[in-house]
Parts: sequence; C-alpha cells; structure tokens
Amino acid sequence: MAQIIIGVAANERKDSGQEMGHMPISYNPSGYIKAVQLVGGLPIMIPIGDPNTVKTYVSMIDKLILAGGQNVAPEFYGEVELIEYADYNRERDAFELALVNEAIRQGKPILGVCRGMQLVNVALGGTIKQKIKGHWQTENFQLPVHPINIESDSVLEKIYGKKVSVNSFHRQAVKQVANQLKIVASSEDGIIEAVESSDPEIHFLGVQWHPDFMYSVRKEDLNIFRYAVHQL
Ligand code: MN
Repeated sequence: MAQIIIGVAANERKDSGQEMGHMPISYNPSGYIKAVQLVGGLPIMIPIGDPNTVKTYVSMIDKLILAGGQNVAPEFYGEVELIEYADYNRERDAFELALVNEAIRQGKPILGVCRGMQLVNVALGGTIKQKIKGHWQTENFQLPVHPINIESDSVLEKIYGKKVSVNSFHRQAVKQVANQLKIVASSEDGIIEAVESSDPEIHFLGVQWHPDFMYSVRKEDLNIFRYAVHQL
C-alpha cells in the first residue's frame, strides 16, 4: 500500500544559534516529523516560498500539517497591531494562507497546531485575540498544565474523552470563529482550545496545544497524528 504523504509547512530562522554556526535555516520541529513517521505516514517539508507554487505542492501531498510558530500578522484578519511583537513572518503567513486555500480547493485534509489552528481560522474569515493571559507555561513542554473541556460527539472526545489536561504555549487565541468551524474544546477561562470543521467539504482539525511535544509520552497525543494521517 502506498504511504500517505504528509506535507508539513516549514518555519525559518535567520540565526539558528551558536550550536549551528548561526546559519539561517528552513525547518520543521522534529515532533511533527517523528509523530507522522511513528503512525506510518511519510512526512515531507514544504518550505516557505512563492504563494504561486502552492498548487504544485498541494498536488504532491495527501494531507497538510500546519505547525506552531509566530503570531499571524493582524492585517491578515483585518485588524491593527495591539501588541509589541517583533517576530511576525508575513511571508510565512501569506504562503501558508495560500496553502490552506489550495488544500481546501483540492479537498486535502489539514491538521493545524497552535498557530496552525489560528491561521486556518484566519484563512476562513475568523479573527484572533491578540493578547491573552495565563496560557504560556514555564514548566517543561511535556507537562500538561491546564484542563480543557471537550464537546460530545467530536473527534477529540473519541481521542481524549470529555476532559484532559494539555500543555499551553500561546499568547494569542481564536476570537471570532470562522463560519465553517465549530468549537470542540475550551479551557476553564473560556479560551478556545480546539476547533473542527462543520463543513463536509473541509477536512480540518485544529488544536491549540502541542501534541507534537507530547506524542512520545502520551498515547492520546500520538493518536491525534494517527487520526490526521489515517482518518481526517
Ligand atoms: Mn492553553
């Protein structure tokens, strides 16, 4: 049986730090790659590039994963900057928005993690809360720090049950949920922690936490990737 090809949209850093000689890098965090491999998918990296190339990229993959990273620049959801933030990558935003639109056009499923969930919401016309408090943990990244309540009859309920604790590395959150999406998990303080598509034409699951940090220590988080590769 042919393997399922999972495109993982990449990030970039101009300076990869001392250990790597400060070279500029295009990269995927390893968690996405390893988790996809563990559940039998074939991951490939899609580097940031010209939005006109997305048609070719999307035609090469079966499914798309959008990873975490920078805040989405506010002009993409029709707002002005309300925070001090130096790390926007508008080239990444524009490229990934084009990837999402093309994946939807070609009927290819999308898993969005953290920023990736927020970006798909923006692609579909939703907005982002630019400043939230209490969702950036200082604990180890494999330690769940806050509970979420999961909606009945959601894919997530099948994976985690009605309640689970998750890690939390976000200073922003989904504000206005796009029409084609529905909220499937929220934190006790009312932050949207997961969304699914309510449109049968769009195959999408978005989570605000990082299963890519947890896949090696908790089977449910690996099962997010198993679901994305084999069922989404
Ligand atoms: Mn959180």
